[in-house]
Amino acid sequence: MAKKGNKSAPGGRLSVNGQHLPTSDGCIATYRTGKPCSIPRVSKLMPYCGKCMRTGDPSLKAVKHPRFGKILIAKRNLPKGYYVAWWGNLLPKKKIARKRMEWALETTKGMVDAVPYDGSQLKYCACVGPNELPTIDFAPNSDVLLNRGEDKAAVMFRTLRPIPRNWQVDMMYNKDEKSTDEFFQEQGICRGDVGTKRYPALRKKNADPPVWLKATGMKKKATKKKVMNMKLKTSKSRSKKSG
Ligand SMILES: [Zn+2]
Repeated sequence: MAKKGNKSAPGGRLSVNGQHLPTSDGCIATYRTGKPCSIPRVSKLMPYCGKCMRTGDPSLKAVKHPRFGKILIAKRNLPKGYYVAWWGNLLPKKKIARKRMEWALETTKGMVDAVPYDGSQLKYCACVGPNELPTIDFAPNSDVLLNRGEDKAAVMFRTLRPIPRNWQVDMMYNKDEKSTDEFFQEQGICRGDVGTKRYPALRKKNADPPVWLKATGMKKKATKKKVMNMKLKTSKSRSKKSG
């Protein structure tokens, strides 16, 4: 890990987590050692270098889930407050294909379509199930790099809590549980827990142990310590997905 403090680096100032800041000239990706990517970003408003745009942040990885297609996991122990950008083509709402609209990110400056880009990793982020806690959400300065009229756009997200290596980076797709359930109903998908033995997801404090733990015969008491005791932020106002 980089040292604390906003000391200057070749790509600009670093966050307390050792990342180049969203408003710097550096790529916000980090290597699995925790060191910031040393390649300059492609443009002021796109917080990744060309390589990280193609292959993604080395500290994250899209992997196959046994039931839900691809999901996003941490490739190292990620700290709270780690920045990840949801980036893609910036399109006016009326120009985006209907089929893609449900999965595009809605912003005040238009829709961000990440589908054409394998390296845009947040689109793989699973939605937390009813017993699970989200680990990433919009950063407070989420629109700091947004500018209407650009071809591409990046929206800033930030981890809500530390994420251990191989655990899932999950989000709440809509602003709260109710609207997320409605979103899934509209898509004709059943919203279920996404954590697996290989790629666990953080569970709510009072949730039962996950099915893959039950299957091995472990009792609730024995698993309670596995659940990190953290509180879910309750104030959310923005809608993440259209629909
Ligand atoms: Zn990079």
